[in-house]
Amino acid sequence: MKRVAKQRASARAGAEIDAQLQQAREQRRSDPAAALALAQQALAAALAMQDAPRTAAARLQCAERQFDLSDYDAGCASANAALAGFEQLGDLTGRIDSARALARCHEKLGRDDEAQAQLRLALELSQEAGDDSRAGLALLSLGHLRHNAGDFIGALPLYRQALERAQPLGDSHLQALAESGLANAFARLGEYARALTYHQRCLERFDEERFPHERSFILNNIANVHAALEDHRSAIALHTQSLELKRRLKDRWGEGTSLESLGQSCIALGEFERAQAHLEASLQIAQAIGDREGECIGHQHLGDLALQGGRPDEALRCYEAGLGLSRELGRRYNEVSLLYGLGRAHRLKAELPQARECLEHALRLTGEIQVRREEKQIRDELAALAESTGDLAGALAHVKQAYRLQRDIFGEDLESRLRHLKLHFELEKAEQEKELHRLRHVELAQANAELARANAQKEKLLAVLERQKRQLERQSTQDALTGLANRRLFDQELARTFRSSQRYGHPLSVVLCDIDNFKAINDRFSHQTGDAVLKAIGRLLARHSRKSDLVARYGGEEFALLLSNTPGDQAFEACEKIRRVVAEHAWSTLHPELVVTLSMGIADGAGPEGHARLMALADQHLYQAKRGGKNQVVRGP
Ligand code: GH3
Ligand code: MG
Ligand code: MG
Repeated sequence: MKRVAKQRASARAGAEIDAQLQQAREQRRSDPAAALALAQQALAAALAMQDAPRTAAARLQCAERQFDLSDYDAGCASANAALAGFEQLGDLTGRIDSARALARCHEKLGRDDEAQAQLRLALELSQEAGDDSRAGLALLSLGHLRHNAGDFIGALPLYRQALERAQPLGDSHLQALAESGLANAFARLGEYARALTYHQRCLERFDEERFPHERSFILNNIANVHAALEDHRSAIALHTQSLELKRRLKDRWGEGTSLESLGQSCIALGEFERAQAHLEASLQIAQAIGDREGECIGHQHLGDLALQGGRPDEALRCYEAGLGLSRELGRRYNEVSLLYGLGRAHRLKAELPQARECLEHALRLTGEIQVRREEKQIRDELAALAESTGDLAGALAHVKQAYRLQRDIFGEDLESRLRHLKLHFELEKAEQEKELHRLRHVELAQANAELARANAQKEKLLAVLERQKRQLERQSTQDALTGLANRRLFDQELARTFRSSQRYGHPLSVVLCDIDNFKAINDRFSHQTGDAVLKAIGRLLARHSRKSDLVARYGGEEFALLLSNTPGDQAFEACEKIRRVVAEHAWSTLHPELVVTLSMGIADGAGPEGHARLMALADQHLYQAKRGGKNQVVRGP
């Protein structure tokens, strides 16, 4: 009893953990902090229960939620622990998901190589598991990794591969992610038309009703393309649509990014007050949901806006706040931008030593993380600073470096464009070839199907023809009314039997039978009765002759018998029997007054005169039987 109760309690506790994890996943966008708290509760409970599978699952969920909250170090620790747990459990799927979560955290911490290694592992394990959906996600993340590192060309084939996995699975979410990836990469490569084509394709696929989340991020991306094309009005309209959708979905993180983008577009249009409102709202959301990366970027944008509005003190405060966060998060790219902002703000305040210190610090960082565009901007700023302090040699050195960088970036841009164009051309060619191959395949398959259809039709037709042929053959040798052989078959068989009887000296007899007064039967009892009499005679003849005899309807009311191996006397006996059977048949069943008799003429022997002569003789004997009073058999004179 106790054991059962205990089992029940632990099953209940397990179900509760599952429910918490499910809820955490559902809440991840609307309230990421609450989602993490739930995942942590689930983890504590699973640990207390010593439930290894649920512990690993909770750790993975913690890692994902920590990622959402920009706590990448904690995310790494959780993902690593989850990975180890799933490995021990031999849970492939768990390992794949943990490796991806780990990769995302590594990437955010600037450890691209480690991120790549984890994603390659996830891809490998997915292939091992035959899980195309997860393989697609791994490829997608590998694409994002390249994209975020600025290698947009390298990202393209990865997104394409992800797309190729998604299509046959009908996995519309993965498909949208891959197509968005392609669109964003094309946009970054300046291929705006192509980018919009991909975006548009996603947008058409994802109607608002069924795929609101997908639609919200595609609208966001399309807006970004318009912004890149300096069409800020369209960008604002699209960001606003996306924002409304995200608000409806309680996607707080998405709301924050939309507001940030709206702020940027407003700045570009010179609408600084609106920009300020959007950026502040975005920052508030980032703070509320614990998105520290968003918070860091929010401070940076607000600093830029303050600087633009000539408010260096405010700009300094914003940049300082952002700087602290960027260092905590290990986001050195943001640190460079923030230090650059700080340098400019100090220069505006004529605090030149502080300005130089910030800019030189930023310059050192650019050397470490290889961001040449930013390095050039910083050099320009340092050159201006040196010039204002009369340090013309220093200014010249920075200008020279800036010029070199400009030339490199320009050359690199050109090279990158050329490389891209070449790749683009090759991709297009490959796509065309694939399409051609597919079409050829389809055409071939269609042709084959048609051929198979035609063959089947032909077979059917042949079978029908065969049936018809047999029917015709039967019809051509069979009498329709009685089912007996017809005159044609009788004549053929007679010729054949006659020849063989002649050759081997076998006896042979033929008989011609004629119904007596048949015209009168028709006239007196009806034509139908006449037919019934014909059929009955046919049956009687067949029944009372031997298997080897051929019974035929020779014409109207005449029948013929071919009796092989039968001499005339035996034929006579057989015919007498038949005559009697017919005369004594119960014809009254057809009509009470009906009487039917047969007259028969026999001829025998396969003489040299031939079978025609034999038949003529039989006919002659039949005539004699009629003349003799009917209902009799005549064999010869
Ligand atoms: P006899 O005793 O001399 O043979 O006289 P009969 O009336 O039998 O001979 P006749 O040749 O005068 O008439 C044969 C009749 O058989 C004429 C024809 O209408 C009829 N007849 C021929 N074929 C058929 C048939 O298939 N069905 C029916 N009901 N009658 C047929
Ligand atoms: Mg007749
Ligand atoms: Mg007759």
